[in-house]
Amino acid sequence: MNDATLRQLIRSIPDYPKPGILFRDITTLLKDPAGWGEVVGRLVARYRAQRIATVAGIEARGFIVGGAVAAGLGVGFIPIRKGGKLPGAVEALAYQLEYGTDRVELHRDAVRPGERTLLVDDLIATGGTALAARDLLRGLGALVVAAAFVIELPALAGRARLESSGTPVHSLVTFDGH
Ligand code: AMP
Repeated sequence: MNDATLRQLIRSIPDYPKPGILFRDITTLLKDPAGWGEVVGRLVARYRAQRIATVAGIEARGFIVGGAVAAGLGVGFIPIRKGGKLPGAVEALAYQLEYGTDRVELHRDAVRPGERTLLVDDLIATGGTALAARDLLRGLGALVVAAAFVIELPALAGRARLESSGTPVHSLVTFDGH
């Protein structure tokens, strides 16, 4: 499947969740057997030789993509959640949003020091969420090998924030604008 076809499977919904935001909806891509297979297949192929030990996915759509990639790589999956949802002892990290703050959490025993971890989410915009998730993993000693996304919004420059602090970024589809 070529990039243009893959991109057409992503639906764009204006003014969701608030006015001015163009929401890139992957549910249409997930529903398409060829498209979904292409996404998982491409990500698994890219990281197969990188000795990934664990995939970490960011709530909520990162669970869907990351879980499938973990199964494809034959490794385990760890959930990074948005605050107050994990039952065990957690490490938490707050990060800045456009308005206010959000937080990500991870079970303290989720990774071992030096564990080669691939971070996955559906989309990178400003990179704030992925940066916080990456720093949380690093704080527990994980070696975050790379961060992978289905969609990247280059105008919001998230890639540079992650790469300038040592985490290579990979995305399958880019969209102009915010
Ligand atoms: P950011 O922290 O700015 O990189 O935002 C990334 C997070 O917000 C990801 O978990 C995305 O699922 C979500 N997100 C941000 N912008 C959009 C958008 N335009 N469409 C869909 N999801 C988005």
